Parts: sequence; C-alpha cells; structure tokens
Amino acid sequence: MSDEQKLQDLKTRLAEIVDLRRAEAILSWDQHVMMPPGGAAARAEQLATLDRVSHEMFVSDEIGGLIEDLRSYEEGLDYESDDASLIRRTRRDYGKASRVPPELSAEMTRAGAIAYEAWVKARKASDFKAFLPYLEKNVQLKHRYVECFDPADETYDVLLDDFEEGMKTAEVREVFDQLKDELLPFIAEVAERQDAVDDSSLHAGFPTDGQEQFGRSIIERFGFTPEAWRLDRTVHPFATGSCPTDIRLTTRYAEDNLESIFSSMHEFGHGAYENGVDQSLDRTPLCRGASLGLHESQSRMWENLVGRSLPFWHYFFPKIQETFPEQLGGVELETFYKAVNKVQPSLIRVDADEVTYNFHIILRFELEQEIVDSTIELADLPEAWNAKMDEYLGVDVPDEATGVLQDVHWSFGGFGYFPTYSLGNIISVQIWEKALEAIPGLYDQFEQGEFGELREWLRENLHRYGRKFTPRETLERVAGAPLDAGPYIRYLKDKLGQVYGIATPVSA
Ligand code: ZN
Repeated sequence: MSDEQKLQDLKTRLAEIVDLRRAEAILSWDQHVMMPPGGAAARAEQLATLDRVSHEMFVSDEIGGLIEDLRSYEEGLDYESDDASLIRRTRRDYGKASRVPPELSAEMTRAGAIAYEAWVKARKASDFKAFLPYLEKNVQLKHRYVECFDPADETYDVLLDDFEEGMKTAEVREVFDQLKDELLPFIAEVAERQDAVDDSSLHAGFPTDGQEQFGRSIIERFGFTPEAWRLDRTVHPFATGSCPTDIRLTTRYAEDNLESIFSSMHEFGHGAYENGVDQSLDRTPLCRGASLGLHESQSRMWENLVGRSLPFWHYFFPKIQETFPEQLGGVELETFYKAVNKVQPSLIRVDADEVTYNFHIILRFELEQEIVDSTIELADLPEAWNAKMDEYLGVDVPDEATGVLQDVHWSFGGFGYFPTYSLGNIISVQIWEKALEAIPGLYDQFEQGEFGELREWLRENLHRYGRKFTPRETLERVAGAPLDAGPYIRYLKDKLGQVYGIATPVSA
C-alpha cells in the first residue's frame, strides 16, 4: 500500500468510529429529551455496546500500524494541513487510549453508572454516607487509571489532561490563586453594597411559554436556524448533535426566574462552536471543540459577555417587556441590567453569579487534589466542603444535598473536570478582547440586535479549526497569548464595579 492509500485507509476507519460516536450522542440526546423511562435499561446496554465497539475499533493494531507507518509521510506535510493534523492528533489520542486496559475502562464505566444511581438516591435523602462506598470505588479505580500513565509532576495532571489536554495542575493553581487574591476582597466590597442592586423584578413569575418564545428569539438573532439546529426541554441543560449541521440545544424553564434565557444563550455558545467547525473536518475525530475549557469559553461568552451586557439589553429589554408587560412593564432598563448582574455568594454552583462561581470551582479543585493524593479521608469530605464554603463565600451549608452531594461529576468519576469551567471564564475574556480589537463597533451592533459579525469572527479565528491543534496551540492562535487571568479579572472589576458603584483603578 502506498502512503496515500494508508492515509485513506486510516480516514475510512476513523470515519466509521466517528459515525458510531455520533450515533451514541443522538441516543443519549434521545434518552434525555424524548425517551419514556421504560427505555432506560435497554438504552444503557445500547450505549455501552456502541462505546465498547468504537473503543475496540480505535485501539486496534490496524490503526496503531497505520499511524506508525505514516510518520515520515506526515513529516513531509505542512504542519497546519488537515492531513498532518489528523495523523498527529490521532497518534496522540491512540497513545493515550491504548495505555488503559479495556477491562479497567469497562469497570470505570460500569462503576460510574452504578454510582450515578446511588448518587441520585443519596442526594434526595441528603445522605453522604449512603454514597460513600460508591465514591470509594470510583476513587480506587481512578488510582488504577493514574498508574497507567507516568505523571511528570502531579497525580492530578493525569486526570486534568482528560478534559483539558496538556494543562498542568500547577498552572491552574497559579491562575486560581490570582483569582483568590483579586476577587475575594472584591466580593467583600460588593457585599457591603447589596442595596445597590434590586433583583426583585427577576422573580415576578414568568409563564414558561413566554420564556421559551423569548429565548428562541434571542438565539435566532445569534444564528440559530431551523435547518441546522433544535431547541428542546430537559432537566439538566446541555448541547449535543451529530455533525456541524445538526446541533441540538436543550434548556429548562422555571416560572420563578429567567435563568432559561441565559441557559439558552450558554448552550447556543457550545452549539456555535460545533456548528462552526470546517466542513473539511467532518467525519474525522477533529470535528469538535479543542477542549472543554475552550468550549466553555464560547458558552460563557454568549451567556455573559454578550447576554449580560448593557448594549445587548438596550436592544432586547423593550422586547422582553412586550413579552411580559405585567411583570416588567414598569421596570427601568438600568434596574433590570443590574439585576441580571447581581453578585451574591450562594450555595449552589450552577446558580452562582459571574464572580462567586469561580470559588465553587476552586473549592472542588482543591478537594479533588486531596482526594486523588489520598491526603483526605473520603468520610471527612462533607466537613471539608462546608469549611471551604465558609472560608471562601461565607455561606453556611444546611445539609449534604445542597453541599457535597450537589454535583453529578464525582458519581461518574469525572475528577479533573471542574477546573475547565473557570478556565472557560478566563479564556472567554482573552478571546473577547481580541474580538473587540478586530470589530470596533461591536457594542453598537449589539444595540441594533446584530450579532453576525461576532459569530463569523469566532468561526474564522477559532471554530473552524476544531481539534486540529492542541488546546494550547488553539488558544495562542485565537487570543495571541497563553492562559492569563488578567483580562478576566479586569473585566469583572470594571463591569461590576460600575454596577455596584465601586471605583476601580483605571485598567493598566
Ligand atoms: Zn457549558
């Protein structure tokens, strides 16, 4: 076989694996959006089978042989070309996947599924002890997983790498320390001025049909089209799909708040990333976002930098007043704008504001390191959790359901996932500053309800590359710099300093 034939063979094999993974994504979407509960057991088997088959196909000797044989061919290609990226990135994925024995991988999946059920019950009963044996099992398996690799520096690096390739624990610690130094005093200052923001207008009672229609009208202006997108209702909002022109967003609606609107914008950001990947990468493993952190930078950008900005509400506030005249007809734009930017320490991560959110993440990041380094007894986690909630946010945790048991991640063994949420916040502003430089009238466009130039700029400078480059290379390419918390901290202090009437030093 010639090198060209070998490359073609590799592409065909990878395309079939991608087909299976996409089928999995749609089965999973169906499970969360459409399926009657009676399908649960059969669906778990279907997903497990697809997962096993695609994994076996990927770690096969044939694929291993092809990527070895194509080494010198790859060296002759332009580093930036689709083919060079495909070979290079597949070699890296293969190297990682083939280190983990299939039995261990299957056991982790199985233990995760069992622990998830236990977690749902334990959370309902607010009983951490009931969840503890399952957590212990997950942690044991993670230790075996870590042993498959040789961590250069820290144990946690191995787990972090599964969600944010190439990121080191030490690097995350450094930017999180910066957030602590800069934002904890800021939160304390805001706390003394709680009267500056009145958010009662956000809890006036909003029929969910109106919320759905209004949320839809926003993301349609962002770029949602019926030809390539869907929006459905679910319990825990997410975005998925089967290719760049089949994007599925989900959200949830509650009458006593307007969170669904921000959640729709958030999921649109995830969808726009997948929708923007170049068609030339379709049916390859490069046809998705570069990492969870970069993905979250896009959802946070549309949710917060666009959706909580004053120019955005200049355009949309009259429209939401039309949708909810009784609730919002008598409210001033400025009052509403301040309300959607309210900063207040609270118990639950997913409900947290832009500033305090990061401390929910820092708490989990610190505890996870202790868990994987075995420097904490798992039975002591509730106490350690509560102590950190008090230390960082001054919040009393009334029970385990709203404390240590609130998130799903530890039930499926997702240690190392949490930091990517805050990395996404940080990266979103690094990219935003570049977009502002490139599009001088950006905020004027928002006031006119125009968002297309921003979306196209993001497509051109980030989305189209998919996973062609490492997350680090991708960030450098779009933001022109490595990870840096400076722009994010300045943005929060500037915007929220104004909302709360706190004079901030002129940004350096
Ligand atoms: Zn997200």
